[in-house]
Formats: sequence, structure tokens, C-alpha cells
Amino acid sequence: MKKIHILATGGTISARGPAGRTAGYQDGAFRIEQLLEGVEGAAALARITGEQIFTLSSEDMTGAHWLALARRINQLAEEGTADGFVVTHGTNTLEETAYFLHLTVKTDRPVVLTGSMRPATANSADGAQNLYEAIAVAASGEARGKGVLVVFSDGIYGARGVQKVNCFRPDAFNSRDFGCLGYVQDDLPVFFQTPAEDHTLRTPFQTEGLQTLPPVEIAYFYADADPCVVPLLAGRARGLVIAGAGSGQMSSPWKDAVREAARRIPVVRCSRTGSGLVGRESRDAEAGTLWGMTLPPVKARILLSLGLTVTDSREALQEFFQTY
Ligand code: ASP
Repeated sequence: MKKIHILATGGTISARGPAGRTAGYQDGAFRIEQLLEGVEGAAALARITGEQIFTLSSEDMTGAHWLALARRINQLAEEGTADGFVVTHGTNTLEETAYFLHLTVKTDRPVVLTGSMRPATANSADGAQNLYEAIAVAASGEARGKGVLVVFSDGIYGARGVQKVNCFRPDAFNSRDFGCLGYVQDDLPVFFQTPAEDHTLRTPFQTEGLQTLPPVEIAYFYADADPCVVPLLAGRARGLVIAGAGSGQMSSPWKDAVREAARRIPVVRCSRTGSGLVGRESRDAEAGTLWGMTLPPVKARILLSLGLTVTDSREALQEFFQTY
């Protein structure tokens, strides 16, 4: 039987609320041992151990938490004490933690994130089933080597493409154009895709020895947006991501402000739409900007920050956006 280790971090999956109701709850009310008691049949899937690594709502997740989580998984993987890992996590920033781990864990053992949209005390709470399915995927041989995965509402998603796309309903995640990697029905995962990008063991990013992550900010463009935000954010960061309109577009005053910022730090154009391709444009050469390809702004921020831990070269940073 496979050994699966659960790292619990908090979120709605650990929440208690008014009996039966979906709103007005408190995250972190149930520890991992208590959550597992509510997962019928889990003991038949794997030999399960768990630890409460954090107890927080995922909006409070920071770079320091990401570094600690990646290091803990790397340590356990190296010791060989687990065949796979499940991370329980709040849904609001789950895709960011998943992508950070996708780039920094140094193992081909499955690492599966899950959470829930409803507190554990709701009628039809979704946490127990999501956790059950996440354990089943982590324990399956097929999940090995696919990088960090997210299991949610019967879908298996790759960490690079997955996004929270609904802030209310239980089927809250998908990967839009990239599709899901598979389905899971109870204890049976069915994969029909493999991530195309490099990840985990095939990235140059290390967490050992890092105390903090290079600060990277995101500037959100909208019609008539004041460009004052660009120098303000650029002044306190080592990199800047623009959440541009459409394919990373912005107004003339913003283009001027971005050109100025890009003289000092790397600036990556992305799209606020959440899908599509932000490719190279002729003005990138003149403005000194990079292009974020298919990464949404929150994930481009993570890749740029990790990229800055290994290089300052704009060419090398751009290459990362083509590769990861
Ligand atoms: N408050 C929650 C969080 O920690 C939301 C959720 O988990 O669904 O992100």
C-alpha cells in the first residue's frame, strides 16, 4: 500500500460555520486529523499520515510560506518517507501555491493540492470528497512525473494551467483552453493528458538557502487607468508584471511609464483576460518589455520572481516564459 503524507494549510476545507449553511464560517477550525475522520474509505486508499504545517486562510499565504512548504516536501521526498503528497489549501490562492511548487519541488512523486468551496459543516460539503479523490490521485502510479496537480470537483488539473474560475460554486476550478488532465471517480483516476511544459526536477529553481523571494508587483491596467501606479510599484520591486487589456495592451501614458520602468527592472506584459497568448510584439524591443505567453499575471509574477533568483538576463528570463 502506498504511503501518502498530507500537509494541511487551512482554508475553507478546514472551516466550521453555522450548521448546514455555506456562508459565515471560520477557516482553520478543524485540524487534519479531524478532517480525515470525515473521509469515508480513506484508509483503504493508502497509509496516510498528516501534519498541520500552517493554519491560515489562503489570502494570508506569503512567499515565506511557499518556501517552507516546498522545502518540507523536498525534505520528505528525499527521506523517502512518502510515495506522494496531498496539500489541503484555501481555494483563493491555491493556483499560485500549486504553480510555485510545480517550479520548485524536486521530486517526481505526486504532489496534489485540493480544498473546498464549502465549509466542513455545510450540507453537501465538498471537502471530504475532494480530499478523498486527491489522496486517490496521489496514490496512483499514473500521477508520478506529471508535476504538481490540483484535484477539485472530480477534475485533475495541471498546476500551470489551473485557475479558480468561479468564486461561489463547488466546481470552481478549470484550466480553460488547456483542459483538465483527467477525471477522478471516487478512487479511480483516469488521465488523458500530460503537461507539456518542464517542471519540478527539470527547472533551475531551488528553494534551499533562499530566505525571501525577489519582490515582483502586478500593475492592473483598465480604461483611463492612472499611470502613476507603474513607477510606484516599479520603485519597490525587482520585477513588474502588467495585467494588460487584451493581449497585454495599455494606453499611451502607460506605455511611456512602462518604458521608463523597464530601463531599470524587467517588465512582463500579460493579459487580464485569464486566457489566450501574449506573444512578442514589435514594440517590446523598443520598450524593453518581455511577454508573458500564456501565463496569467499572478503566475507570471511567480515565474519572474523565481527567475530573478537565478539570473538578471532579460533574454534568459524571456526564455523561462517559453519553457515553464
Ligand atoms: N477563505 C478561503 C481560502 O482560504 C476560501 C476557500 O478556501 O474556498 O482561500
